[in-house]
Amino acid sequence: MSKVISVIGAGTMGSGITITAASAGMKVCQVDVSSEQLERARAYHAKTVKRNVEKERMTQDEADATLARISYSETHSCADESSFAIEAATENIDIKKKIFGEMVATYPADCVLATNTSSISITELGDSIPDAADRVIGMHFFNPVPVMKLVEVIKSEKTSDETLQRTISLSEEMGKTPIPANDFPGFVSNRVLMPMINEAFHAWNDGVAGPEEIDGIMKLGCAFPMGPLRLADLIGLDVCRDIMLVLHNGLGHPDKYAPCAKLVELVEAGHLGNKTGRGVYDYSQS
Ligand code: NAD
Repeated sequence: MSKVISVIGAGTMGSGITITAASAGMKVCQVDVSSEQLERARAYHAKTVKRNVEKERMTQDEADATLARISYSETHSCADESSFAIEAATENIDIKKKIFGEMVATYPADCVLATNTSSISITELGDSIPDAADRVIGMHFFNPVPVMKLVEVIKSEKTSDETLQRTISLSEEMGKTPIPANDFPGFVSNRVLMPMINEAFHAWNDGVAGPEEIDGIMKLGCAFPMGPLRLADLIGLDVCRDIMLVLHNGLGHPDKYAPCAKLVELVEAGHLGNKTGRGVYDYSQS
């Protein structure tokens, strides 16, 4: 019997997790409260498999079978058959706690309850459903999900070994490389990446060099595929600021993790990066 997975949230990440799991042969139920988002995800899934056929990464039969494995729902309609539920909804603690409440009430008692959160404490989410905290785990995919190999797997002190092992196995079955980490603000990825991005803003603010030069130096000198300031625009400057605040509030060190004034200034001016057409760089002509 094929594995059934429910993916809750059909945005950028949830839709990517769904197509990755379906491409790996799993039956997936894509859930979202928004019918528009479900339609957007459906279109993205169709476009992704079409491109894979054109590039001869899969046959037309495989593409059809992949799409046939996905169902779309505004409710947790596959809860009964799901062995795994992956929450990938909006990064808001109250929304996530509400979804975890629904999951514990509707999914089987042995279903793993995973979250794709970038910064919210896995322990706090687990504590919101104390009887099932051993089944709660962070399963942090990277964007774009079909391309990026890593899944950062975050266990809280209450996450059971069985939940950890099942999450590692599922990640591998999806063609990913899981790497475990403990539950600290920003986990490993954002704990290391965001202060580096923040420091690039400090270098710019202090007049060490302009954005093109900072990005050029980091690309050519440190083998970065993309400079830190260009990457910040891609991630979203508001997201970068918010993750710095999570580190700042969660780790102490009054100065070390404070978001750079230059970053905050751009966010407050509404220049959030690619998504608004302007951030560190101007994208209005592209
Ligand atoms: P998004 O805004 O693209 O999508 C969020 C989706 O959640 C929307 O479709 C929304 O309708 C849905 N949603 C909201 N409330 C819901 C509910 N109660 N039930 C079901 N669906 C609900 O967001 P995203 O970028 O896909 O991020 C999702 C999660 O992944 C967040 O926790 C984010 O931190 C994390 N994440 C994002 C990235 C990234 O690069 N965007 C990378 C890694 C992790």
